[in-house]
Amino acid sequence: MQYSFEFFPPRGSAGNLALDMAVQQLLPWQPAFASMTYGAGGTSQLESLVGAQNLINRGLATAAHLTCVDASQSEVQATARQFIAQGVDHFVALRGDSPSPDYVAPADGYAYASDLVAGLRQWFKGTLSVAAYPEVHPEAKSALTDLQSLKIKLDAGADQIITQYCYDSNVLLDFAERLQRQGVTQPLLVGVMPIHDIAAVQRFSARCGASVPQTIVERFEAFDQSQDMTKLGIEIAFEQCQLLLENGFDQFHFYTLNRSPLTSGVLSALGAAEPKLACSA
Ligand code: FAD
Repeated sequence: MQYSFEFFPPRGSAGNLALDMAVQQLLPWQPAFASMTYGAGGTSQLESLVGAQNLINRGLATAAHLTCVDASQSEVQATARQFIAQGVDHFVALRGDSPSPDYVAPADGYAYASDLVAGLRQWFKGTLSVAAYPEVHPEAKSALTDLQSLKIKLDAGADQIITQYCYDSNVLLDFAERLQRQGVTQPLLVGVMPIHDIAAVQRFSARCGASVPQTIVERFEAFDQSQDMTKLGIEIAFEQCQLLLENGFDQFHFYTLNRSPLTSGVLSALGAAEPKLACSA
């Protein structure tokens, strides 16, 4: 089993402290890589650079997310070079969410993530990951065109796929089968977002086209509110990872939300090698 951790760039001192603690506590699990997200339109550029530097300074193989929406090609390329100068050798190449429903990419920009991948591949020799949506990207015309768009990204030179989180394992199994039928051979890293707050996850999922199965909602509703919800979040994510492992998936990308207990709990439950170093809070 291989796993990676995703963090987001914090704002403010409380956010910085939370990120520092999460990274410190997850570091001993020795992930394959850690990634730092990037605000679409460059909204968190500085924070992302600082956040990626934080991961690099701790000796983690670091992937920088990079979006191209609302930016010129030269701006995006310049940002990529800044990350590389810091020691990044892996990008998660993304379009980013459209800033408005009638958004049109700038004439000197990259319209889609596939264009960004092609642009980076002209000179970048490191790893390129791209996003995939087992439940279909909300803007896609159909599941088929979405899959075709993914194939274009891969054909443009992407090395691996990271999925949007998807709580319905049957959907994931079906998605992997469809990839196989399309002849996709690149590694598939399954995005796992253990649930810390069911209401917050439902709200966020509604925006990004992911669903939260009713069976999961009911388990949270039935949970004794005086108990620690973390345990239930761990249990549900563990059950999913275990089922996926039984079905041949062995790479997981944890959306940590800059918190360590859920991800640590799932890895412990899965029997991943125990942390090599003593954790210090
Ligand atoms: P694309 O692959 O370009 O696809 C966007 C839409 O266009 C899809 O509907 C696709 O089907 C369609 N499409 C693609 N190519 C074509 C084409 N040639 N012709 C017609 N239609 C096409 N967002 C951030 O802002 N920052 C992050 O750090 C970030 N990290 C993410 C990490 C992961 C693992 C995932 C799954 C998502 C992440 N996102 C992030 C969200 C992502 O930016 C949005 O989902 C965005 O709306 C789509 O990005 P994409 O790279 O998948 O776009």
